[in-house]
Amino acid sequence: MFDCVIIGGGPSGLNAALILARGRKNIMLFDDDNPRNAVTHESHGFITRDGVKPSEFKRQAKADLMKYPNLTMYNERVVDLKKETQCFVIYTESNKIYESRKVILATGLKDVLPPIDGIHNFYGTSLFSCPFCDGWELKDQPLVLITENPSAFHKAKLIFNWSRDLVVCTNGKEIFSKEQQELLLKNKIEVIEETISCLEGLAGNLSAIRFKNQRQLKRKAGFVTTNLVQASPLAESLGCVLTKNGGIETDNFGRTNIEGVYGCGDISKSAPMQVIVAAGEGTKAAMGVINDLVNEEF
Ligand SMILES: Cc1cc2nc3c(=O)[nH]c(=O)nc-3n(C[C@H](O)[C@H](O)[C@H](O)COP(=O)(O)OP(=O)(O)OC[C@H]3O[C@@H](n4cnc5c(N)ncnc54)[C@H](O)[C@@H]3O)c2cc1C
Repeated sequence: MFDCVIIGGGPSGLNAALILARGRKNIMLFDDDNPRNAVTHESHGFITRDGVKPSEFKRQAKADLMKYPNLTMYNERVVDLKKETQCFVIYTESNKIYESRKVILATGLKDVLPPIDGIHNFYGTSLFSCPFCDGWELKDQPLVLITENPSAFHKAKLIFNWSRDLVVCTNGKEIFSKEQQELLLKNKIEVIEETISCLEGLAGNLSAIRFKNQRQLKRKAGFVTTNLVQASPLAESLGCVLTKNGGIETDNFGRTNIEGVYGCGDISKSAPMQVIVAAGEGTKAAMGVINDLVNEEF
């Protein structure tokens, strides 16, 4: 039986694995290698790793982990997880079954893009979700914010920090209050409420937003508000309590309401969603597991 199985090998799961391995626990990490940032070429904002390709980050992380003989990594999806009296039973897609005393869920989130023709062609190359991640590269450029979300006012203010040339497209929705509209106008941010018919461009490079009324807005880059959903149903099927915004509720050491189940990284939706934060949360969850195992065993 393993001391801990980690499900998900993004930055949170990989850092959890590092701390658990160094904590001398017998652990296994499962990852089906479909991270949230797979669409991007560069990841920013992690000191010593600024601008790294996400796949290279992962390769380096796995190389760091290779030196710990008490850790096994499998490139495989976990399809089910059951809590028994003494342990958790883990089922993989190749019908293998494993047992573990603790489980860390580091399965991440998925971005659901607004249903606009062509939008997938540009997400991660010229349309991004987070100005903290990609604002620097787009600074002072004419930008678009595509959003149907009422929280867009704050996002528009944030993007304005990187570029003063901003147009917000709400795709047919009326999402701003009168006061917000006035403030946007005061800062020369145009709001277009017309329905978008498609996005145009080549090889991942956006060139224009075309509207149903045939108007065309020329923009080479920008941001889009996505709907974030859990990448895996495992937490919910185990009975983990979800927060109002669909994150998994955890304490400061990643403990969920299910004893022995920990969560870290984007899945909690409680902290800013960035690689460095996810890695830090992985550390905290691993420390939670080690603390709890030590208390049980001592
Ligand atoms: C377009 C875009 C650009 C971004 N740019 C940046 C940036 O520049 N800087 C930055 O700091 N952050 C950036 N982010 C955010 C960053 O990607 C996330 O915050 C980070 O990846 C979260 O790490 P995580 O470990 O929680 O989840 P993830 O990185 O999503 O990893 C989860 C892993 O779990 C695996 N998994 C899921 N379910 C299962 C299962 N059942 N069995 C086995 N494996 C499973 C997945 O395949 C995946 O490999 C960006 C995000 C997007 C969408």
